[in-house]
Amino acid sequence: MSFKYPASRPALDGRELEYVTETIRDGWISSQSPVVQRFEEAFAAYHGTVHGVACSSGTAALTLALRALGIGPGDEVIVPEFTFITSAWAVTYTGATPVFVDCGDDLDIDVELIEKKITPRTKAVMPVHVYGRRCDMATIMELAFEYNLRVVEDSAEAHGVRPVGDIACFSLFANKTVTAGEGGVCLTDDPRLARQMAHLRAMATPADHSYLHKNLAYNFRMTGMQAAVALAQVERMDEILATRRTIEKRYDTLLAGIPGLTLMPPRDVLWMYDVRAQQREELRAFLAEASIETRLFFKPMSRQPTYFHPDWRSLNAGRFSEDGLHLPTYTALTEEDQAYVAGKIREFYARAPSGRAVAAHGG
Ligand SMILES: *Cc1c(COP(=O)(O)O)cnc(C)c1O
Repeated sequence: MSFKYPASRPALDGRELEYVTETIRDGWISSQSPVVQRFEEAFAAYHGTVHGVACSSGTAALTLALRALGIGPGDEVIVPEFTFITSAWAVTYTGATPVFVDCGDDLDIDVELIEKKITPRTKAVMPVHVYGRRCDMATIMELAFEYNLRVVEDSAEAHGVRPVGDIACFSLFANKTVTAGEGGVCLTDDPRLARQMAHLRAMATPADHSYLHKNLAYNFRMTGMQAAVALAQVERMDEILATRRTIEKRYDTLLAGIPGLTLMPPRDVLWMYDVRAQQREELRAFLAEASIETRLFFKPMSRQPTYFHPDWRSLNAGRFSEDGLHLPTYTALTEEDQAYVAGKIREFYARAPSGRAVAAHGG
C-alpha cells in the first residue's frame, strides 16, 4: 500500500544526483572512490570529531566499533531494553553478551539503573539516543570513568548530536535523517580506533596485499555511489535539521490538547515524531484510510525471541511499546500536510471516545 503521507521519505533534492552522476562518470564506484573519504571528513567535521569511518550500515558500524574496542566472548555490554534490535545483535555478533537496562520516561536508557547491572565482565555501555533524544551522557561518562568502561553511542537516530563516547555510530538507511540508501559511519577522536575500524571493515587486508589476514574481519565497505548521496546530504545538514525542528514545533502545536493523545518530551534533533495514543490500533487503521502511514514504537529486547525473558511486561519499555506511535516525518512535509494529519487524529478521538472508531468510520 502506498500512502500519500508516508512515515518517512528521504530528502534527495540537493546535489545527490549530480554527485552520483560524477562518481559514475569518473568510474570511481567502489569503496576506493575519493568520495568516500570526502564524505567521512565532512561528516566527522560536522559533528566536531576527528575521524570518520564509513561502512555499509548502522549495524555494521556498531559491530566495527565493538570489535575495534576488543569486545568479544566472555564480555558484557550494557544495552537499553528500548532500542532497535541490531543495537543488541551487534554485541551478540562479537560473541559478547548484551545486558539490558530499562528506559525512563524519555525512552532513553534509565541511567539510575545502569550501575546495578555492572559486573566484573562489563566492558562497555551502549547509550542509544532514541528518537533523537540525547541520553544523559554526563552521568554515563562518569560511570564509564569509575568502572573503566568503553562507551559506544548508537546515534542512528541522532544525526547532528555531538558524540562524547569512545565511538559514535550512525545509520544512513533511507528513513534516517541523513541517508545513503544504506550505509553507516563511525566517528571517533582516537586515530588508533579509526585505523582498526577501517582495517576490520576491509577484510583486514594487509597493506602489502600479501593475502595474509591477521584478524577475522568483514566486508563492510561503502561504495562511491552511496558516499556521493551521503555527501550531498551532509552539505545541507543545517537546513535538514532546521526543517525538522520546524516540523517538530508544528506538530507540538497542532496536536496539543487532544484527549487520548500524549505528547512526548522535546527532542535534541527530530527523527520520527513520536506520541502515545490510546486505541492505537484503531487510530492507525483510521489514519491509514486517510492515506497517512504510521509506525509503531520498538519492542523491548526481552520480548524478542533472540533474548526472550517473560519479565518484559513489567518494563517501562514494554508499556511504551504498547501505545507508542510515529507520525509522518520528512522534510517535504508542509504545514498543510501536518494540519491534515493532526485534523484526522482530532477527528478520530472526537468520534470514537469509546473505541469504536473503525466501525463508526466504516459506516
Ligand atoms: C536504524 C537503526 C540501527 C540500524 O541501522 P542500519 O543502517 O539499518 O543497520 C541501529 N540502531 C538504531 C537505534 C536504529 O534506529
